[in-house]
Amino acid sequence: MDFTKLPLFAEAEIVVCGGGTAGAFAAISAGKMGRDVLVVESLGSLGGTATNGLVLPIMSTHIKGEPQCSYVSNLVRDRLLAVGAIDERGANFDPIMLKTVLEELCVESGVRILYNTFIAEAVVSDGKLTDIVVANKSGLGRIRAKTFIDATGDADVCVRAGAEYTKGNPKNGKNQPISLRYIVSGVDYDEFGRQLNEEASRTGLWGTACYSEGVIYAACCVGDDWALNDIFLKAIENGDLLPEDKAYWQGFSVTGRRGCVAFNNPEFFVDTDGTNPEHITKAQINGKKAIARQLAFCKKYLRGFENAYVSDIASLVGVRESRNVKTEYVLTAEDLLRRQKFDDMFCQSNYPVDIHGGIFDFDPSGVQPLDDGKPWYEIPFRSLVVKGFDNLMVAGRCLGAEFLAQSSLRVQHSVRSSGEAAGIGAALAIEKGILPRELDGKEVREIMVKNGAVYA
Ligand SMILES: Cc1cc2nc3c(=O)[nH]c(=O)nc-3n(C[C@H](O)[C@H](O)[C@H](O)COP(=O)(O)OP(=O)(O)OC[C@H]3O[C@@H](n4cnc5c(N)ncnc54)[C@H](O)[C@@H]3O)c2cc1C
Repeated sequence: MDFTKLPLFAEAEIVVCGGGTAGAFAAISAGKMGRDVLVVESLGSLGGTATNGLVLPIMSTHIKGEPQCSYVSNLVRDRLLAVGAIDERGANFDPIMLKTVLEELCVESGVRILYNTFIAEAVVSDGKLTDIVVANKSGLGRIRAKTFIDATGDADVCVRAGAEYTKGNPKNGKNQPISLRYIVSGVDYDEFGRQLNEEASRTGLWGTACYSEGVIYAACCVGDDWALNDIFLKAIENGDLLPEDKAYWQGFSVTGRRGCVAFNNPEFFVDTDGTNPEHITKAQINGKKAIARQLAFCKKYLRGFENAYVSDIASLVGVRESRNVKTEYVLTAEDLLRRQKFDDMFCQSNYPVDIHGGIFDFDPSGVQPLDDGKPWYEIPFRSLVVKGFDNLMVAGRCLGAEFLAQSSLRVQHSVRSSGEAAGIGAALAIEKGILPRELDGKEVREIMVKNGAVYA
C-alpha cells in the first residue's frame, strides 16, 4: 500500500508518539521551548502506564536527596500537592489527578493533543521519517513532522520505520512479567493497618508490611520472608487463592484517596510479550478473574476489607519491558553496574536492577563499581537519538538500553527525565537548524537545570 496517498490529517514541528509519562514530559518541555508540538495518543488521556496502568508510587532514585533530573516533575508535583494528590516526598500520587495535571500542563504549554488515534505505520525516505500513519474515527491518514519522538513504550514507531532493536532477555528472549493493576476502595486503613503492624511485629518483617500515618505498604511474594506469609499459605491451602497469587502481591495506599489500596498485581509470568495483542488480551481476561479471587481473599482474611470493592482496573496492561531501540549510544549492563558517568548525561539513578520472575542470569561478578564517590549511574542523551535516522528520537522505557540496564531505568523518574531531555533536544535541534545527533547533550541538560531540574 502506498501510504503517501493517504490524506494528511495533521502537521507539526514535533510529533510526540504516545502520551504516556515520557510522551507527556516530552510534549510539555518542547511546547515550553516555543515549538509547535502535537502529541498523538491511542487512549483518551495522558500518563500511560502511570495513569491508565494505575502504576504508583514513583520509585526512589536511591540517591541522597532524591534528585529528579527533571524540571517538569517539579511542576507536576506542585500542582498535585495543591490538590492533595501527592505526598510530601513527591512519590505516592493519585493517578486520576495525574492525568488531569499532565493534560493541563500540555494545553498551557501550547501542545495540541490528538486522542483515540493509533499509530500503525511509518513512512521513511532517505533516512528521514516523513510521516506516521494513524487510524482513528476519520479512517486512515498521515501525520507529518520535522522531528518525531517515539514514546510509545514499545517503540512502535521506530520498529515500523525499520530501526534496529532488541527485545527480552538476550539469553532466552523472554520478556519481563506483565501485570494488570487494580485499585480497591472502601478499605478501613486503620483496621487493615493494625493487622499489618501486628503481623510485622510478630514476624519482625517490617519491610514487607507496615502502616503509619495513613500510609499502607503490604507485600507477599515468592519465598517465606513475608509478614503475611502464613495468611497467604492458609488461603492457598483452603483453595481461596492459587499459588500464582502469591508469586507477586503488593499493595500501596493512594495519596488523596483514603480507603484506596492500589495493587501491583496480578502478575503473569508466561505470555508476557507486550507487543503481542493476544498476550495482552489474555492478561486482561485472566487478570479480572484473579482480581475477583484476590478481592474475595482480602474480604475473608484481611481486616478492614468488609466494605471494600474494586473501584478501578487498569485499561492499559502493565508492560515492564518489550522492545529497546538501537540508538547512538546503548546503555549496557556494565554501564549500570559500573555506575558509568557521561558528559552528555540527562539522568542519574541508583535504582537497582529490577527483573521480576527469576530471569536474571547475568553474572555481575566481574564488574566493579567505579570508586568515584558518586554512587549512581547516568544515562546519556545519545541513548535518545535513534541510530540511522535524521529526525527520530525515542524516550521512555524503550530508549536505547540493554535488557539489564532497562530493568532499572524503566522506573518513572528516569522515564520522566528521558521525555524531558528528548523534548528539549528535539526543540533545540530545530531552533539551531541541526540534527538531533549533532546536538551536544550537555546543552540539553543546561536547559533542564536552568528551568529547575535538580541533579546530585
Ligand atoms: C506493573 C508495573 C509496575 C511498575 N511499578 C513501578 C513503580 O512502582 N514505580 C515506578 O516508578 N515505576 C514502576 N513501573 C515502571 C514505570 O511505571 C513504567 O516503565 C513507565 O511508566 C513507562 O512510561 P513510558 O512513558 O515509557 O510508557 P507508557 O507510560 O506505557 O506510555 C506509552 C503511551 O503510548 C501510548 N501508545 C502506545 N502505542 C501506541 C501507538 N501505536 N499509537 C498511539 N499511542 C500509543 C500508550 O497508550 C501510552 O499512553 C512499573 C511498571 C509496570 C508495568
